[in-house]
Amino acid sequence: KLHNIIQDLKGNIRVYCRVRPVSTSEASDASHDSEMALDFPTAGDLLGRGLSVTVPFGQSTQKHNFAFDRVFSPGTTQENIFDELSELVQSALDGHKVCIFAYGQTGSGKTFTMLGNREQPGVIPRAMQQIFQSGQKLASQGWQFNMQASMLEIYNEDIRDLLSRRKDDNKKHQVAHDANGVTTVNDLTVVDVNKPEAVEQLLAQAMEKRSVGFTALNEQSSRSHMVFTMRIEGHNTSTDVKVSGVLNLIDLAGSERVKESGATGQRLKEAQAINKSLSALGDVIMALANKQEHVPFRNSKLTYLLQPCLGGDSKTLMFLNVAPTREFASESLCSLRFGSKVN
Ligand code: ADP
Ligand code: MG
Repeated sequence: KLHNIIQDLKGNIRVYCRVRPVSTSEASDASHDSEMALDFPTAGDLLGRGLSVTVPFGQSTQKHNFAFDRVFSPGTTQENIFDELSELVQSALDGHKVCIFAYGQTGSGKTFTMLGNREQPGVIPRAMQQIFQSGQKLASQGWQFNMQASMLEIYNEDIRDLLSRRKDDNKKHQVAHDANGVTTVNDLTVVDVNKPEAVEQLLAQAMEKRSVGFTALNEQSSRSHMVFTMRIEGHNTSTDVKVSGVLNLIDLAGSERVKESGATGQRLKEAQAINKSLSALGDVIMALANKQEHVPFRNSKLTYLLQPCLGGDSKTLMFLNVAPTREFASESLCSLRFGSKVN
């Protein structure tokens, strides 16, 4: 009984932790402390839930233990990961509203998880492919689907259109929700993805805008949130049943704490905007998980944008991306703490 109550309280929020591998440069370059700071399930254990991180504590060290819905070790493939969430993706075709987030410091594997690369495609390409193929299969049962995608970035609390063909997108994009929970962002490019070529083209654009790599450390992409949205309208022409689902895939800004005292100008402004929006996201998910009456959606652009897709009977999955080595132990601890607050 108690277990059921706890499950019910948790609602539709899940937290998965993914530990990235030690990179070759970390392993070979003495400037990195590549000693492991994390203990995680053994390779191949896809059902593991426990994780611990060891951080310096005075002259000694301290070990912090965590448990999440899943903990994926560095050997986990993109395919393994997608297997664990294909059902969630599928529910968007059944008319659910779904959000999948990647949270973690810069370089922890968020973009690798969400987008990946040509050889190892991540959640976004796999989700698009699955939705597209399922849609085609369901056609034999009388279903017709209309799918539209958009891709935006939130930088310093301003929205930028990532699919705009214009170089200078100076438009002010405002978010509005109608009574049915349908969100519109004015002047945002929305593309039909009703054939495979459209999917391909969209992915190429996404990859270009959000390239994966350690060099991205100082790139703006690490200081903005990327929100990829797919809206799916289904109509069954034989039964006249209509469904409308939304899938939001979000590559969050790097969660690393920037010392606000040391930063100045633009960098300080960015740091404050990121801190504010990530803590607003944490507050919203925590309020939903605790079934609080007031959910503070309006405290950031990100939570306001996603409001209709968070809470209610929508489904949320948060990836905590962490690096395994001692160099990043304290940032990993922060990410794990964030995750356990919302789990
Ligand atoms: P973030 O988006 O969090 O800043 P990235 O996704 O760009 O981090 O990852 C940083 C680097 O680590 C990239 O070169 C990426 O290819 C690599 N990487 C991250 N996660 C994995 C993984 N699970 N397996 C292999 N390489 C990874
Ligand atoms: Mg990234």
